[in-house]
Amino acid sequence: MKIVSACLAGVRCNWQGEAKPCAKVIELVAAGKAIPICPEQLGGMPTPRDPAERSGNRVISISGEDVTDKFKHGTEEGLKIAKLINCKEAILKARSPSCGVGKIYDGTFTKNLTPGDGVFAKMLKEHRIRVQSEEEL
Ligand code: SF4
Repeated sequence: MKIVSACLAGVRCNWQGEAKPCAKVIELVAAGKAIPICPEQLGGMPTPRDPAERSGNRVISISGEDVTDKFKHGTEEGLKIAKLINCKEAILKARSPSCGVGKIYDGTFTKNLTPGDGVFAKMLKEHRIRVQSEEEL
């Protein structure tokens, strides 16, 4: 059983209140092989919301709000779900400050990328869950 970013499964949960549907991810969910979750919503963030980016060990919104604690809370709740379903693999939305894998926006809100993982992706990796983005499918 896999975890997938809910926005990839067609849930309108991203900061703009939109989905980023990925046909392969939707197929997995429809076949009962994956569960969609949105760690930012699990952390209590509203939808739509201000965009946020990682900046060092913090996560800061475009309006300057430090949302690190909400991101951490959502990550912990997401990890709980991953453990409940004995998840070994996750497919997460590329470049997101929560879900990004290997490359994320650099905290300047200028679309520049920097090496690194989103907060949720990093936590899953630390718990030996294999993580890839939808762009690697
Ligand atoms: Fe999608 Fe993850 Fe962002 Fe939620 S936190 S909208 S699942 S990329």
